[in-house]
Amino acid sequence: MDSLDLLSITVAAFAQAIAYLFFLYELSQHYRSYVFGGNPQVARKRAIAFSVAVFALFLCVVLLVLQSIIILVVVLFVMAVLVRAIRLRFSLRCLERKEEELDGIKYIVCRSDVANAWYDYRGKIICVSSRLKEVLSEEELKAVIHHESGHAKHRKLGLFTSFIDYSWLYAVTGIALLITLLREISLISMLTILYLVFSEAAITLSATVISWVNEHECDREALLKSGLQPFMAALIKTYVYGSLRRYSSFIDNVKIKEAKEIIDVITASATPKQIYNTLLKYSWNFPKWILDLIINPFYYTHPPLPLRLALLMTYHTRIELGTPDKEQKGKPVH
Ligand SMILES: [Zn+2]
Repeated sequence: MDSLDLLSITVAAFAQAIAYLFFLYELSQHYRSYVFGGNPQVARKRAIAFSVAVFALFLCVVLLVLQSIIILVVVLFVMAVLVRAIRLRFSLRCLERKEEELDGIKYIVCRSDVANAWYDYRGKIICVSSRLKEVLSEEELKAVIHHESGHAKHRKLGLFTSFIDYSWLYAVTGIALLITLLREISLISMLTILYLVFSEAAITLSATVISWVNEHECDREALLKSGLQPFMAALIKTYVYGSLRRYSSFIDNVKIKEAKEIIDVITASATPKQIYNTLLKYSWNFPKWILDLIINPFYYTHPPLPLRLALLMTYHTRIELGTPDKEQKGKPVH
């Protein structure tokens, strides 16, 4: 064993771990500023720019250290074919499509017993599953449709998020496969794995925040058009019924509390420490998400429900004050 190799990989592994912790701390501060700060537009730009920088940096450093670009290209190609096959096999299929209109917006009701709604970037149309439409009131459905039309409005951010999602998918599975190629059991290979695992966590962290910001932006659009109570109720119902998948037909009439009561709980729980811990937990979810690819080609890209409600609460207060998008100069709220 070359002692210089051992020294350099030890330094690289620990530097990677420290860089990950530093980025985690910084990103949780930027994200908190975005959710709770007085200037969401500036905070959004900072959070996205920081996430992209972390993503690109960790990816480039991993490639340079591994020097296995040819293997990676082969892995990526195989992955692309696999992802396409999985998507075709498991994507949510409409058993029947029916065009409808609400609040001047055209959308497709897709017959399916899974409660869900999405924006079809290719067909440029909003889709709502028949099960979701069934469990929402008209006001709540309107809120969902405005969230999805937010995806049409923020098309560039949405497409950029998709690009990051795909890069994340290829990077984490590619790196995981490269780890399995390191067959020899030695200190150097253990340190290399440590180095790669911290890179996986950092890439997952930044991709997660970019996806969350994309969703939050559309939530803000929906809030402006539909009001707090219907959108909060629609979000909660989508999470509850959606998480039950096909078993959602076993329940009916979920009663949602008043926004005021929900806000009290959220305010008490969305502390800086909890945001840090949530991002920490999500960044280490990548092994589970890689396994999830068997049934779903993407990791879970939506923010946790309490954080979505927290952003609605902040934004609603700003609307009431008459300054929803007011640009202010200032530092992020830490
Ligand atoms: Zn969305």
